[in-house]
Amino acid sequence: MIFFQSLTKADLAELLLPLSAPRDRGLTDDEFEKKRAKRAKFRAQQIFHWVYQRYVTEWDEMTDLSKDLREWLKANVEIFRLTERVNQQALDGTHKFLWTLHDQKTIESVIIPAALQEKSGADAVARLDGRDPGTFRDDEEKETEATQMQKGVRFSGAKTDAKLNEGQWRRLTACISSQVGCAMACKFCLTGVQGLDRSLQTHEIVTQVHELRMRAPITNIVFMGMGEPLHNFENVAKACEILIDQDGLGFSKRKVTVSTSGLVPAITELGKRVDVGLAISLNASTDEQRSAIMPVNKKWNLAALMKACREFPLGPHRRITFEYVLLKDFNDSLEDAERVIKLTRGIPSKVNLIPFNEHSGAEFKRPDDIRVKAFQRYLLDRGVTATVRISRGRDILAACGQLRSIFGTARGTDRHKDWKELPVLQNHS
Ligand code: SAH
Ligand code: SF4
Repeated sequence: MIFFQSLTKADLAELLLPLSAPRDRGLTDDEFEKKRAKRAKFRAQQIFHWVYQRYVTEWDEMTDLSKDLREWLKANVEIFRLTERVNQQALDGTHKFLWTLHDQKTIESVIIPAALQEKSGADAVARLDGRDPGTFRDDEEKETEATQMQKGVRFSGAKTDAKLNEGQWRRLTACISSQVGCAMACKFCLTGVQGLDRSLQTHEIVTQVHELRMRAPITNIVFMGMGEPLHNFENVAKACEILIDQDGLGFSKRKVTVSTSGLVPAITELGKRVDVGLAISLNASTDEQRSAIMPVNKKWNLAALMKACREFPLGPHRRITFEYVLLKDFNDSLEDAERVIKLTRGIPSKVNLIPFNEHSGAEFKRPDDIRVKAFQRYLLDRGVTATVRISRGRDILAACGQLRSIFGTARGTDRHKDWKELPVLQNHS
């Protein structure tokens, strides 16, 4: 059995080629081949629409396909589904999903809404700083997507919260996983503490988005859940191709972002292979500091990483996002901020500051808000676009890898400790 979601449209067309012989007689070999390829391509497109845009999960419901073709698809291709194990919503609207895979392993995806009100919150901070509120909003945030949200998306009733109604959210970002666990062993990250179990297949990546799309009008995708996407290059690249295929999930290439801890050769490969956004988990301002928390830096240091970023093909008005987890008394000084400016100079980019989300798997602490703001202000005052990621879904453990560590089998963490401290607000499962 082949999983439908593991196929790009071109893969599917190729699979359908032997079944797409034209009925016309008297064609030359060349004409026959051309017609057959065209029919296969058209059918692949039809099937993509049925699954990804009309949310049909049974071959028999695809009424404009011939009976023979449907029978063949039934026997050979499976439309993959993920089993929802946990579905929780936090006070701030963050929705967290834990899925069970066919081998009983679990992965998580999170929907992170960006509310309309957030804009005025950002404005307030800007005004506090005595600057034009417009200066630190990124292009994406300037858009009002509530009005652009996909129309005609089918919701699965009860699972779609009233808050997800059109008009309330500007953006609904799906944060998806690329691996079960992660091999990169970053010291501050709970997924890193767990180690790598296995990489996800293309269909397991694509289906996270597909399942979420059946529940909410997702506008953006970020590969910031569990795993290192570029350590699973082929499956992630293929998944991105399906996500941005206008006959597939249909996301704009500007709305899909791959986040990496810095696998330099794979960054270059990604730039050549598929046109999506890039986020780099910078997290430190010197090699010594970075190597202490991110082993990957020992293989590809900051100079190599920044060189790959400088050479990354960015379209017009596009920027690389540098993520910077702020760890108290480790990388949160103004000297660090100054070095971040130097490192990123000349790269069309923005810095996303993430105050550390504390968990029992790491000794680090979260800096207080004043220090976070001072760091941000230092960057802003020197013309660097810097946002602070508001901690989302803390009451449901929305940090990297944290939900799984409670329900799954986390190594090296006291998994009950985090859980007891937190209220369960809604559990639809
Ligand atoms: N492996 C990829 C993508 C997943 S991690 C990467 O590292 O980029 C997504 C982001 O979460 C990274 O920027 C990482 O630095 C950050 N992160 C991990 N653990 C965190 C924590 N406990 N608190 C705050 N951010 C964290
Ligand atoms: Fe892996 Fe990213 Fe966590 Fe590092 S931060 S351990 S790369 S998931």
